[in-house]
Amino acid sequence: MKYISEFREKKLVEHISRKIERIAQDVGRKVKLMEVCGTHAMAILKFGIRQLIPLSVKLLSGPGCPVCVTPNLYIDTACAYARKGFLIATFGDMMKVPGSDGSLSEEKSKGGKVKVVYSSMDALKLAASFPEERVVFLGIGFETTAPTVAASISLARQQNIKNFMVLCGHKLIPPAMKALVEADEVKIDGFLCPGHVSSIIGSKAYEFIARDYNIPCVVAGFEPVDILQAIYLLLSQICHGEAKVENEYTRVVTPQGNLKAKELMAKVFNLNSSEWRGIGEIEDSGLSLAENYAFYDAQLRFPVEIISSREMEGCRCGEVLRGLIEPEECSLFGNFCNPSNPSGPCMVSIEGACNIYYRFAGKYD
Ligand code: SF4
Repeated sequence: MKYISEFREKKLVEHISRKIERIAQDVGRKVKLMEVCGTHAMAILKFGIRQLIPLSVKLLSGPGCPVCVTPNLYIDTACAYARKGFLIATFGDMMKVPGSDGSLSEEKSKGGKVKVVYSSMDALKLAASFPEERVVFLGIGFETTAPTVAASISLARQQNIKNFMVLCGHKLIPPAMKALVEADEVKIDGFLCPGHVSSIIGSKAYEFIARDYNIPCVVAGFEPVDILQAIYLLLSQICHGEAKVENEYTRVVTPQGNLKAKELMAKVFNLNSSEWRGIGEIEDSGLSLAENYAFYDAQLRFPVEIISSREMEGCRCGEVLRGLIEPEECSLFGNFCNPSNPSGPCMVSIEGACNIYYRFAGKYD
């Protein structure tokens, strides 16, 4: 199959692994490479990439799962809308995320109107089909999801669908990378940049990280050969004292990205400061609706006030998302907290590091 089998080819995988072994010896020290994409985190564990590279190269998971980085205040606000009789339309992985006082799943079991949809367009159709309902779509996700939500909002206006609103929680990846580097809690030697997000924003979007912070960046795809080749390119840069952006995923990602999608986002959204779970407020890292589209902003039209939000006691998602600990270092991992009974968002989403570790860690040990 084109673009699958050739990127899983055993001989090629072994060849790149040997190249990594040699270049890691030339680097001559421990290095930490961080991915900021849940799909990379999953591919790394699922394909046993860690077992194919030297111990001196540590792969860290960063804030790459949109559900995980969405703070409890957002979940609490969504639950409050459900309690007030709004129809909540959401992606399925938000259902079980525990907020301060329960999840959307619990709101639904208490009679709240909460519906799982597969896209924001489905939510828009729902609003058109049930004009008596006030439909709030939970707009979370990175640059990959935001353009589709922008398209739905734009269409809602064109079609004069007035009972469709968005609770806007979209976030942007490059400002989060910058925040992690500036916080300097973990010395990151290189970034494995996300394939999906980069298909929208383009590989040039990371140039400031390489230039201003002297950190190598490589955009990578999701197959074993993609990830190993990206690791090799990062180590080569480190070995030669370079810091630049390279693109391993040229079959999907261009330097400029998807211009139409970026244009649509710029039309519908404004940049704003946004709160990330475990990281805090990051300047210009979130999207809110632009003035022309403010009518579709749930919080502007029907504000709800959340008195206080709190995190689950003992849950260390924040540290997991900053690459400070691995999921297994959380004392709740696997026993008290598991995918059927998650204590934190990183165990809920299939792109969350704790969920991924629960399913795949130890598979190749
Ligand atoms: S194992 Fe559970 S409680 Fe611990 S950090 Fe992960 S999600 Fe939170």
